[in-house]
Amino acid sequence: MPSRRFVPSLRGASLAWLGLVLALVLIVFGATLYFRMRQALFSRVDADLVGRAHVLAASLENDIFSGWEFALDENYLDLVAAGGWFEVSASRGKFVRTGGVLPTHAAPTALGYADIGETREFIFAGPKDARVRVGQSVAAERAELQRLLVFTIVSGLGVLAAALAGGWWLTTRTLKPIARMSAAAEAISERDLSQRVDVAALPAELRDLAATLNAAFTRLDAAFTRQARFTADASHELRTPLSVIRAQAEHALRRERTSAEYRSAFEACLRSATRMSHVVEQLLTLARADATEMQVEHAEVDLRSVATEALREAGAAADSANVELSSTLESVIVRGDASLLHEVVANLVSNAIRYNKPGGHLRVSLEPRGDCALLSVADDGEGIPSAALPHIFERFYRVDQARSRERGGSGLGLAITRWIVEAHGGSVVVESRVGVGTVFSVTLPKQGPARLESAQAG
Ligand code: ADP
Repeated sequence: MPSRRFVPSLRGASLAWLGLVLALVLIVFGATLYFRMRQALFSRVDADLVGRAHVLAASLENDIFSGWEFALDENYLDLVAAGGWFEVSASRGKFVRTGGVLPTHAAPTALGYADIGETREFIFAGPKDARVRVGQSVAAERAELQRLLVFTIVSGLGVLAAALAGGWWLTTRTLKPIARMSAAAEAISERDLSQRVDVAALPAELRDLAATLNAAFTRLDAAFTRQARFTADASHELRTPLSVIRAQAEHALRRERTSAEYRSAFEACLRSATRMSHVVEQLLTLARADATEMQVEHAEVDLRSVATEALREAGAAADSANVELSSTLESVIVRGDASLLHEVVANLVSNAIRYNKPGGHLRVSLEPRGDCALLSVADDGEGIPSAALPHIFERFYRVDQARSRERGGSGLGLAITRWIVEAHGGSVVVESRVGVGTVFSVTLPKQGPARLESAQAG
């Protein structure tokens, strides 16, 4: 069962990444701006506070508060309190001197800076046992920071929204050619396999994909055409013997016949049925080969005995066609399937007899050649026209339809032969001249197909 893995859409994934990265950048940028600003504002406040604290401390040192009788110059008081307030207490609060508007909250006990409500204050121990508080309102700074925060958040969200909208638009634009291509591919696969996706109209990044799709359509188109032709050919091939059987039966049944007439009708039916079963068997072989469910054994096979047996079986046919058989067979052991290899020799030999002329010759030779076995089947029969040579291994291809059929050929022998040879890792080639003769040469690797070897090795 296929696992249900969550695969995000391209657009979703791109927008999520864009949003995440941008949000992070904006947060870091906004936070840095906010804290920098806060630091700048408060360090100015702190500098003011410390400055005032120093003035007060100096005045205490200079004994301006002599006797704590508050002989402090009013101008001086204003100067110190400008923009804030102060409180000087001595003798544990016995003498208190203040300037400016003091906050209502209780004075913090610890020394140092303190932020209470809207004020920031600085408390320090002054000379002569005095405790000095200087402070000021930071409401303006806080408001400033608040405005900055709101501005940063609003503009950050604005930038994020604009970026996501831009990303949406961009991905839509980017995905459009893919959608166009897939619509074209769908239309082609549904309606007309001979059409192709227009590669030139696509962006460079998609051209490879479109070319791959087009190549797949070409293969599909060729496969369908082949399949249709094959089905038509196969039906045609079976229709002929079936019509013969039907005609014979109808003719025999039209009136009472003598037993000799019945016999001849049955014989004709039998010949047609035999022919049909031969064709059907060959069709099955090819169908299995196509479905790659055909088992190719890889036992050790002596090709000489395979060839000898095939020649022995062909003896009668050669005699009745008045074709002279000769052979030079060396022993060559190959790895493969004896019955399939037998079919190779039998097909080539029967063709060499079928397409020969009375008094003609058929010569079979077998010899080792390096790591291979070389089998050649030569005849001095009618030969094959050069225009037909590239096609003779195709299914149902015959140089002369009527003659091949009349001589018992199905048009499938060479297709099967080539498949068997290639399944053994070998090759088959043909040389022929009309009126001179034909030579089929089969090369088979002694070790059998490489695929089998590696399967064994693994
Ligand atoms: P068939 O059953 O018709 O012989 P094959 O696939 O074996 O089918 O061969 C395909 C065609 O190749 C034959 O119809 C014939 O025209 C040609 N051919 C094959 N072998 C020979 C040969 N030895 N000499 C002349 N023509 C041949």
